[in-house]
Amino acid sequence: MNRFILGLQFHNFRHSSKIVNIFYNPLSVSSPISVWKILSIKLATNSNTRAFKDCDSESHKISAENTTTTTTWTPNATEERESAFKRTFRVLKEDLWNIRNSQINSREQRIPSEVDIAIIGGGIMGSSIAYWLKQRAPESFNLIVLERDPTYTCASTTLSVGGIRQQFSLPENIQLSLFSASFLRNIKRHLSVLDQDPPDIAFQPHGYLFLATEDGAAQMEANHKLQVELGAKIDLLSPSKLKEKFPWIRTDGIALASHGLENEGWFDPWSLLSAFKRKAISLGAQYVDGEVINFEFDKEHEKIIEESDDPYYSVNHLLVKTKTGDIKKIKFAVLIVAAGPSTGQVAKMLRIGTGPGILKPPLPVEPSFLYFFPFQSEEPDGTDLDVDYTFFNKSVWPVLAERVPAFEKIKMLSAWAGFYDYNTLDQNAIVGHHPYYNNIFFATGFSGHGIQMAPGVGRAVMELILDGSYESIDLTRFGVKRVIMNEPLLERNIV
Ligand SMILES: Cc1cc2nc3c(=O)[nH]c(=O)nc-3n(C[C@H](O)[C@H](O)[C@H](O)COP(=O)(O)OP(=O)(O)OC[C@H]3O[C@@H](n4cnc5c(N)ncnc54)[C@H](O)[C@@H]3O)c2cc1C
Repeated sequence: MNRFILGLQFHNFRHSSKIVNIFYNPLSVSSPISVWKILSIKLATNSNTRAFKDCDSESHKISAENTTTTTTWTPNATEERESAFKRTFRVLKEDLWNIRNSQINSREQRIPSEVDIAIIGGGIMGSSIAYWLKQRAPESFNLIVLERDPTYTCASTTLSVGGIRQQFSLPENIQLSLFSASFLRNIKRHLSVLDQDPPDIAFQPHGYLFLATEDGAAQMEANHKLQVELGAKIDLLSPSKLKEKFPWIRTDGIALASHGLENEGWFDPWSLLSAFKRKAISLGAQYVDGEVINFEFDKEHEKIIEESDDPYYSVNHLLVKTKTGDIKKIKFAVLIVAAGPSTGQVAKMLRIGTGPGILKPPLPVEPSFLYFFPFQSEEPDGTDLDVDYTFFNKSVWPVLAERVPAFEKIKMLSAWAGFYDYNTLDQNAIVGHHPYYNNIFFATGFSGHGIQMAPGVGRAVMELILDGSYESIDLTRFGVKRVIMNEPLLERNIV
């Protein structure tokens, strides 16, 4: 292996256990700073049952017999753990709230035939957008969120690691993440609901550590300059400083490192999703259980497309298949597609990728198995969410132990996999309306950094829809236009 970066995230969720998230990518497609990246690996006992649910199969979890060495990692004594007693009450309370809410929802599962705003996808992106729109103007319009799986079994959001960092190369990503950090810090103020416990996303402040070889050092320096200019607190470390700070890392072959000092860490994605959803509902958003399966197109005789004989079709109706199998038609004025890894499929239903002219280029967002793409010839096949544990033992572990000798003694107890909402054009967000349809917006393609961007992207989409332009962070460059023009906007620090 001639160049690499190692990213480590140590997790201590309330529901689960210590998690080390190791990013491994010997030859990243876009980044001159390669990134180590693999599936998230649990290093202690309990399991995050909320994250596994039905996506889980027995082979999804590792059995202790699969490995022979023992765990030597010990928890940091300074980290706070919630007491079992407190946790039991909190989880019970949350579950009762969810049951009550789902009963209210099922009692009220009257699906409107006409709405002002429809959002496809009730994951973190759809829920954040719903919240921002509704908090700005709770009484002004009706809004529904259509979600095919209210248990979020396979959603990116609930299978996510929940990491947040400022170490990106594009100003938009750095600004979004800085905003998110401040939003999360003030989450109780933003997302509390009357008579409910304030949200607690179990934020764990820990900086990301990126390592660059000679090839990546200049890019890392340029990234660092921009990050600091925009207000991020990031330390650039020479190999000797790195060794001083992290004596357990072998520094041979490393030219430079960058380490987040503030606003980086991780949180519980399920809690953030619940908080957004609960707040959006309290402000009047309606969540509808059902899968959007198609759209209806209306030929517009009075509209013509420049330099084309093709008629123009507008879209104002969607078809949703409910849990009971009924198909309902809903008329909408504005549609927002936030369907995560399935956004490309939804776009296809809108003739994006199959229509004429600017509809020809497909929306390049597809599910990407999290530990699928970094591994060149030894890539596992990413068709379901089962984890190939031999892959870890044979291909990942030796490389990790080479860089961090202490990893020789780790024992993996369980693991999970998930799908990225992967933008194959440039691994970057696609936000904004499609130039063909001025009433259809997308918020997708985050390729592994969507959960941390959700607060800022929700606000940006709200501004675009209600103000007609971006007022806070300008995300124009993330628009669909670059997809149509085939002009990638590369984020150089993809994990
Ligand atoms: C293992 C893993 C680790 C990650 N780690 C991080 C991290 O550390 N930091 C970070 O910022 N990001 C991380 N991510 C990425 C992040 O989780 C995603 O970018 C983000 O959750 C995307 O949110 P979303 O709402 O767009 O998609 P989703 O959470 O997938 O939500 C989309 C929803 O749309 C619904 N849907 C789809 N099609 C339809 C339809 N036709 N009709 C109705 N509903 C539909 C789905 O059921 C789903 O619930 C990680 C992702 C994975 C998989």
